[in-house]
Amino acid sequence: MKVATHHLRCTECATVIGKDEVSSNFRCPLCNGLYEVVYPWTNATAGPESRLPNPSALRWLWQERRSSSMAIDQSGVWRFRDLLPIVDDLEKVVTLREGNTPFYDLPRCAKAAGIDWLLAKHQGMNPTGSFKDTGMTAALSVAAQRGFEWVACASTGNTSAAMAAYAARAGLRSIVFIPEGKIAWGKLSQSMDYGALTIQLKTDFDGCVKILGELVKQFPIYLLNSVNPYRLEGQKTPAFELVEQMEWQVPEHVIVPGGNLANSSALAKGFAEMHELGLIPRIPKISIIQAEGANPLYRSLQENGGEQLTPVVANTRATAIRIGNPASWRKAVNALQTTGGWCEQVSEQEIALAKAEIGAEGVGCEPASAVTLAGLKKLVAQGKITAEERVVLILTGHTLKDSAYTIEYHRNELFSDAEKAELSVSEQSRHAALRKPPIVLEADPGLVLRTLESHMNQPQPA
Ligand SMILES: *Cc1c(COP(=O)(O)O)cnc(C)c1O
Ligand SMILES: [Zn+2]
Repeated sequence: MKVATHHLRCTECATVIGKDEVSSNFRCPLCNGLYEVVYPWTNATAGPESRLPNPSALRWLWQERRSSSMAIDQSGVWRFRDLLPIVDDLEKVVTLREGNTPFYDLPRCAKAAGIDWLLAKHQGMNPTGSFKDTGMTAALSVAAQRGFEWVACASTGNTSAAMAAYAARAGLRSIVFIPEGKIAWGKLSQSMDYGALTIQLKTDFDGCVKILGELVKQFPIYLLNSVNPYRLEGQKTPAFELVEQMEWQVPEHVIVPGGNLANSSALAKGFAEMHELGLIPRIPKISIIQAEGANPLYRSLQENGGEQLTPVVANTRATAIRIGNPASWRKAVNALQTTGGWCEQVSEQEIALAKAEIGAEGVGCEPASAVTLAGLKKLVAQGKITAEERVVLILTGHTLKDSAYTIEYHRNELFSDAEKAELSVSEQSRHAALRKPPIVLEADPGLVLRTLESHMNQPQPA
């Protein structure tokens, strides 16, 4: 493996800097823009000097590495390391064997959405239960290589879980800033379990980001929020895996949830690089779905075509995307424009229904991930996606991350009466058919039998 050769390019003013010249907040000093990692072969105007790796050799190598016993080969991020040469010393790579996540078909969800077939790339099947692991292995390896002792992030929960785990593996110390009272217990428990210094601030996610921004200017702490461009290098690899799992075919659409809005652009970068290298013949449309209560990107596109973004006070039960002032919104606008995808918003009830439908397929996901199916239904209803097109949902987090949400949903305690009253009769019956609340009974065989009989006579939801 040759020495890391990469630069950082400002995604707004296009200024290119050396990898060691970046400031601690990962912002361009000229325009405050965010950086992306560029390689000699990125946007190469052809020519042998661009040193493009050979596509069929790469495909073979990536597959071959899966049968190796080396940790970096078993990782679904680092087996693609040829396209992310960001660490000089591969011994320093911090991995939990992330990636290599399953690809499921969802026939009943496809039917509910009105399309022929639907696939899900389940990033919740990563070691700490969310796609954040793919980014964390990359950025934390860079932190370890650069000799940092402390790392930190502000998080709605999953970033902190991932950071705490990878920092612990590397023997680094980590500080987590999370909004008090607005994160799922599963996620909070992880950062404690993995030994992070966990600070709950009496503010929202956006407030946590502000405090951390001040901190990294004063102390030698490595910032691991998604403004860190190395995270996105790891988060682009599910795009590689996804087409590999489709035998190098390209789906028409990929749908992702949008929170801080970095993941959408990471996937777009992955597809663009594969296209550049001749690994795929075209790029899928990437669409981004937000919750109605946390929809700054959706509003920006409606109001001014994505020229400006006005922060909102975010409110949704899908806590992973409860973000009102997303850092990477310009990158997301760019991803939508270059791939031709759309941005939609979905209601709390639409999210809950979609989550129950994904659960009922035996797959399951956390609430934020379910916006993808809810958004798909809207895009199909608007005629933007047709029945025969192949769609891949990126399920970002595991169902066990937020079991309280699931239990409240099934007990019919998630929504207020006012919210329930907004549902149509057919929506209500759809929810009722999916809800599976636990049934509490006396330990009496006759009673158990009669109860089971009454349930066996009920039809299954289609
Ligand atoms: C972080 C996260 C998101 C949002 O990703 P962004 O890159 O912030 O847009 C969505 N779903 C889950 C489960 C997450 O953890
Ligand atoms: Zn700039």
